[in-house]
Amino acid sequence: AWNFCAGPAALPEAVLTRAAEEMLDWHGRGLSFMEMSHRSPEVVGVVEEAEACLRRLLAIGDDYAVLFLQGGASTQFAAVPLNLAAPGGPADYLDTGQWSKKAIAEGRRYADVGVVASDAAGNYRTVPPRDSWQLREDAAYLHLTPNETIGGVEFTEAPVAPAPLVADLSSTLLSRPLDVSHYGVIYAGAQKNIGPAGLTLVIVRRDLLGRARPECPAMLNWETAAAADSMYNTPPTFALYLAALVFEWLEGLGGLPAMAERNRRKAETLYGFIDNSAFYANPVDPPWRSWMNVPFVLADDGLDKRFLEEAEAAGLLNLKGHRSVGGMRASLYNAVPQAAVDDLVVFMADFERRCG
Ligand code: PLP
Repeated sequence: AWNFCAGPAALPEAVLTRAAEEMLDWHGRGLSFMEMSHRSPEVVGVVEEAEACLRRLLAIGDDYAVLFLQGGASTQFAAVPLNLAAPGGPADYLDTGQWSKKAIAEGRRYADVGVVASDAAGNYRTVPPRDSWQLREDAAYLHLTPNETIGGVEFTEAPVAPAPLVADLSSTLLSRPLDVSHYGVIYAGAQKNIGPAGLTLVIVRRDLLGRARPECPAMLNWETAAAADSMYNTPPTFALYLAALVFEWLEGLGGLPAMAERNRRKAETLYGFIDNSAFYANPVDPPWRSWMNVPFVLADDGLDKRFLEEAEAAGLLNLKGHRSVGGMRASLYNAVPQAAVDDLVVFMADFERRCG
């Protein structure tokens, strides 16, 4: 079966196989990794290696702290203003879809949120042009969602702005090379391209540490996490171990340039097929189409249920679109191989022939 779930998403088979082999007895220690103290040299060593490997993959400089946290990307929606904005102070947000909207709603609890531009009126099919953005000189940061997991809108270029860029890269980090130095803060829930749910990654430029307001909970304070090497409290050790294996897998395949090549090809296969069909449609403006999340609709939504049932019977799982937008969505994360997309396209063509 191929898993097109938007998250928690497919993990590399090689990683799951290795984890299964090591499940009961990690490296001859007679214990499962998840039974070990997070202060033990074994666990500390794996976490250090995970960080080192991630730094190599993304060429993260020493001027950035890498934090392994919990609470998902949603917790960072609050942590961002609490760490960076003065109480009720200005913070700018670009609105490109459902996840931007959630970050904005949470940001409003702590900061004077300015929405610099929004494509809500256009139903989030595009990214508003940079010269239309209403940026404020005194904003503590500019928050971006470079890949909208639900709407399938993606932009890869970091805009130039007066404030540090804060990017929710939950569904695109590690899918292609990224110049970390353009960003003040990057955060991501792990459950797409990093590992299992339960782990949250934050990469923060060190000069932005130490700005948290006094009421910022210790668990959300990036400076506290950095000072404790992500072990202020008990970290999600098993998720970290799996993330370490995923990073190693990525490096073994040739790192992010190699992954980008694979992901570009997968996305081209699916968008190319959709665009050549009168039965399927993707609503996003072509320059802003996500490589990771491909929403599509059928010409007749009365066929949605049948499409999903037959897809599942054919081993093509989790193609239902997000409940807020309906239709279908195929997520093509790193662990989804080209063969999965090829099989999907064959199924879609056959379904169209029979029902179109
Ligand atoms: N931001 C984006 C872009 C997402 O795709 C998601 C989840 O899919 C979230 C935030 C929320 O992440 P979490 O469930 O880890 O809080």
